Amino acid sequence: MAITNSLLATIMPYLPKELVRPFAKPYVAGESIDSVIKTAKKLNDNGFSTTLDILGEFVNSKDEANKIKDSYSELIKKIALEKLDSTISVKLTHLGLGIDPNLGEKNIHSLSLIGKENNVGITIDMENSHYTSKTFEIYKNAVLNNEELGTVIQAYLYRSIDDIKDLDSTLLNLRICKGIYNESQDIAIKDRFAINDNYFEMAKILLKGQGYACLATHDLTLIDRLESFIEKNSISPHRFEFQMLYGVPMGNKLEKLKRKGYKVRIYVPFGKSWFEYSVRRLKENPKIISYVLKNLFKK
Ligand SMILES: Cc1cc2nc3c(=O)[nH]c(=O)nc-3n(C[C@H](O)[C@H](O)[C@H](O)COP(=O)(O)OP(=O)(O)OC[C@H]3O[C@@H](n4cnc5c(N)ncnc54)[C@H](O)[C@@H]3O)c2cc1C
Repeated sequence: MAITNSLLATIMPYLPKELVRPFAKPYVAGESIDSVIKTAKKLNDNGFSTTLDILGEFVNSKDEANKIKDSYSELIKKIALEKLDSTISVKLTHLGLGIDPNLGEKNIHSLSLIGKENNVGITIDMENSHYTSKTFEIYKNAVLNNEELGTVIQAYLYRSIDDIKDLDSTLLNLRICKGIYNESQDIAIKDRFAINDNYFEMAKILLKGQGYACLATHDLTLIDRLESFIEKNSISPHRFEFQMLYGVPMGNKLEKLKRKGYKVRIYVPFGKSWFEYSVRRLKENPKIISYVLKNLFKK
């Protein structure tokens, strides 16, 4: 399967969009703000919180970055208008960080202001390791003006265990994930069991610390381990939530978590860049193709 996955991931960019669409469909809530709002409403009605993400990263011009900022601003206002239980998730390179660090920072500050005015939380997604330090730096400055701002830490990076200790504060809203980018073994753990152990260690620090923990993973064994820790240590459900990506099959786990009174938030991507996003994700992690194929053939 590994060879087939890599082969498929390589040829994917050259296939017609319509052929790739089924690979993206389970994971993407349409192209427009209206379509993602509809999906978020349905998820809210079923007891899930959401975080909405406009697909894309790395813009080529200031104009493009500002347009993305404007779209996020429209999205925030729509979330507030519809009284949705939803935050937004943003990549700093989408707001221009890759072409000019000041532009990325300026845009997140202005979005943060709009988020605060509308009472809509914002999470700054974490991108590849080139941007880790800058992302934390921007987050630390911006959170002083908006407590509803959060960011992300990746368990596969060796540096993360120190970063999490450095970030710990009452203002901290931190998503922990394993990490999606292909990083060098000099800076990233490659063994999946060791990544899980590091994730667990980081989660313990966060859950015993001062901030709010967003436990983002689909790994059922890891989730069980986290639940045991939470229960043994009587961690209040107000101190954490679980997060999953839209469309990833989780069996009855989500319902079980909800029944325990735990908050579950679904990360819902949408937008015109679904094709580029899917191709990039598939190239970065051809393993995903097996998940999608499994789903396609199950139907
Ligand atoms: C809410 C959320 C936000 C995230 N934000 C970021 C971020 O800002 N930066 C970043 O680098 N990464 C982010 N990620 C991605 C994350 O880093 C992992 O790459 C991804 O979640 C897979 O790791 P896992 O913990 O689910 O464990 P894995 O061990 O990879 O997967 C566990 C099981 O989940 C299933 N699964 C996992 N991913 C998928 C998928 N895409 N489709 C179908 N089934 C799947 C598989 O059955 C697999 O066996 C985010 C993930 C989530 C859930």
